[in-house]
Amino acid sequence: MVKAVVGANWGDEGKGKITDMLGKEADIIVRFQGGANAGHTIVNNYGKFALHTLPSGVFYDHTTSVIGNGVALHVPTLIKEIQGLVDQGVPKPKIKVSDRAQMVMSYHILFDQYEEERLAGKSFGSTKSGIAPFYSDKYAKIGFQVSELFDEVSLKEKAERICETKNVILEHLYHKPALKPEDIFRELMEYKEMIAPYVCDVSAYLWDAIKEGKEILLEGQLGSLKDPDHGIYPMVTSSSTLAAYGAIGAGIPPYEIKKIITVCKAYSSAVGAGAFVSEIFGEEADELRKRGGDGGEYGATTGRPRRMGWFDCVASKYGCRIQGTTDVAFTVLDVLGYLDEIPVCVGYEIDGEVTTEFPTTALLEKAKPVIEKLPGWKCDIRGIKKYEDLPENCRKYVEFVEEKIGFPITMVSNGPGRDDIIYR
Ligand code: GDP
Repeated sequence: MVKAVVGANWGDEGKGKITDMLGKEADIIVRFQGGANAGHTIVNNYGKFALHTLPSGVFYDHTTSVIGNGVALHVPTLIKEIQGLVDQGVPKPKIKVSDRAQMVMSYHILFDQYEEERLAGKSFGSTKSGIAPFYSDKYAKIGFQVSELFDEVSLKEKAERICETKNVILEHLYHKPALKPEDIFRELMEYKEMIAPYVCDVSAYLWDAIKEGKEILLEGQLGSLKDPDHGIYPMVTSSSTLAAYGAIGAGIPPYEIKKIITVCKAYSSAVGAGAFVSEIFGEEADELRKRGGDGGEYGATTGRPRRMGWFDCVASKYGCRIQGTTDVAFTVLDVLGYLDEIPVCVGYEIDGEVTTEFPTTALLEKAKPVIEKLPGWKCDIRGIKKYEDLPENCRKYVEFVEEKIGFPITMVSNGPGRDDIIYR
């Protein structure tokens, strides 16, 4: 069976932990989109890890980790991550990289930096990992596919062509040094050497695995609201964050995705610019940021402090709907134990009218949160294994959210570890 683990919101919902946990039952775990711009934080018996390219299942020796064709593959990051695991005592993971995945080149990273510099205060909050220039090139049909690494003659010719167009922009828009075809070619040859042992016809491999009844997990990055079509455009990422894209970015039939587990965090956080209706500021935000996640709400890749807010029923209901949710995993609930009262955003007021439907970006910018307060439970819920054993106010909070978003919360996560989970 194929299951997808995806985010309902702006990312950082705790997908890594849920994938790592479900990975116990999985044979194959697949990354199907995104690049090394976001990351998952995973805590397990080997230690604490920040993964950017590898799927969260790499810690099990019974799983195969797959980088699908939809991923923006930065080869040096992948190789470094594999080495980092081995250095920390994790058994050498089994990895397959799609021959149709395209590669992030060092010039994509440069273009990302130059564009952020040029936009200055008007930037989109890029992590400068080259992801937007990479996907632009992919769709402009000037990207490099892993399969192309094995044809040196065409590669040389393509490197020349790419320099012609890129150098016009470098010279006239950014006023930066030109690219040289021989440098691009050399970089590609380095990538070839590094990646060759892992290259695989992933869609054929997954097709056979499905036929054999294997358990496959698709692991999404970021969340619904960062999707380029359905998110808060233009403050979005450059590849689809939706479970539906799992079919494309892994190369499997869409009807094979039987379970869509959407991860929702018990409060909100976001990185980068863009409207964030339930956002809080000052001491209230600092307190939640400090207590949040596992060791505070700071970016896994960048270390940037995340923007904080209360749980947003409007955004989460939409985020779950657009994912096609079958199950909600409600995470980081333990963090809210310090609050006397827990504010929840239950509606958006836009031009004097209250709505519970998530609007398009221009209207979203005008939305003001309608807040309802629920009583807190004022204790530590970590270690609790049964739903009935949670404090009454805590259960009421879960059930209130479930009713507002309209999708079943089947898992409640009450700590960062693999076993900190309550099934309902
Ligand atoms: P992802 O990108 O969606 O995987 O999100 P992050 O890597 O930002 O994960 C969120 C953080 O919360 C990580 O540091 C996790 O270890 C941590 N985490 C996940 N679930 C829980 C939970 O239920 N409680 C607590 N306290 N931390 C959690």
